[in-house]
Amino acid sequence: MTTTNDRTDAGPELPDVVMNLHTPKSPGMGVVVASDVCTVKKKAAGFVRNVSIDVSGTELAGKFKAGQAFGVLAPGTDEKGKPHKVRLYSLSCATNGEDGKGNVIATPVKRLIDEHEDDHSLFLGVTSNYLCDLKPGDEVKLTGPNGRRFLIPAKPEEHDYLFLATGTGIAPFRGMMMDLLEQGVNSQITLIMGSPYTTDLLFDDYFREMAEKHENVRYITAISREPQADGHGKLYVQDRFAANQDELVPMLSNERTLIYVCGLAGMETGIYQQMARLLPPEHLARYLTVNPEVMGDVDAWDRQLVKQNVKPTKRVFLEVY
Ligand SMILES: Cc1cc2nc3c(=O)[nH]c(=O)nc-3n(C[C@H](O)[C@H](O)[C@H](O)COP(=O)(O)OP(=O)(O)OC[C@H]3O[C@@H](n4cnc5c(N)ncnc54)[C@H](O)[C@@H]3O)c2cc1C
Repeated sequence: MTTTNDRTDAGPELPDVVMNLHTPKSPGMGVVVASDVCTVKKKAAGFVRNVSIDVSGTELAGKFKAGQAFGVLAPGTDEKGKPHKVRLYSLSCATNGEDGKGNVIATPVKRLIDEHEDDHSLFLGVTSNYLCDLKPGDEVKLTGPNGRRFLIPAKPEEHDYLFLATGTGIAPFRGMMMDLLEQGVNSQITLIMGSPYTTDLLFDDYFREMAEKHENVRYITAISREPQADGHGKLYVQDRFAANQDELVPMLSNERTLIYVCGLAGMETGIYQQMARLLPPEHLARYLTVNPEVMGDVDAWDRQLVKQNVKPTKRVFLEVY
């Protein structure tokens, strides 16, 4: 039996957004204007490029909001001879775009490079590699905007923000942070970014600079395969809740706080688990509705169990892929 907590929370009011101005049947034609490596010092194991696209000739111009995504149609056909399906990419730019006028959107694209399991030949993801290969001046077919919920609320100053990211899941938080700071919002903005190695951090210089410049911005990294610069051992994003509990537990106990999670599918499991361990029930209930039967053995939670027994409230925004 799944019981609901007595606290019913409609969640914050979200801004209106427009969606699907371009569809796969009527895509807009963007033009690539830049493609920059966005890992640290080009020494990362993976390849991630922030690809900037001029959308001034499309319906997307000025019509997207930080936190939304857009679609990309790679040319060619799949193994069934059908045109490649649209793939979604999160905007990494502010609502007014990379150019300040809403005409240039951007996204960090991670090349999907793997081996086929059966014959260990090279497996290259279609659209991520297509996008990363594009050069300034190249045209690209776009759809969108997509997404109506992974957004900063309509009254941003009424909330504090805990952003939790892994990998390219950092994208929306760059744009959201730009929007909040540009609007002079004085709320607490805490970002925890997880990556395997320090060299895999994305937009690291930007977030460091913002944290230095703005008292209300906190940038915390969680490196899973290296000890941390601040003396802690190897950490995943959720391990920071315990390692930094002096600052994070009070933040999570504060009624103003909203949690945004973006990145690898399944990352929410460990985050929910850690919240259940550290927060008193009345504070946990603001974010999660948990079946009381599973509260006794939080260590046993896995992805399947969480899916069936833990439901995020409207104060939690989740975009995992
Ligand atoms: C809302 C949203 C936002 C996103 N934002 C971003 C973003 O900002 N940046 C980003 O880089 N991505 C993002 N993605 C992911 C993106 O949409 C694509 O899924 C990703 O780029 C891979 O697409 P691809 O065409 O390169 O790979 P595909 O050609 O689609 O290949 C991936 C598929 O192949 C399968 N596969 C993987 N490895 C192998 C293998 N070794 N052998 C056989 N099959 C395999 C996988 O199961 C998967 O189904 C987002 C996704 C969503 C839903």
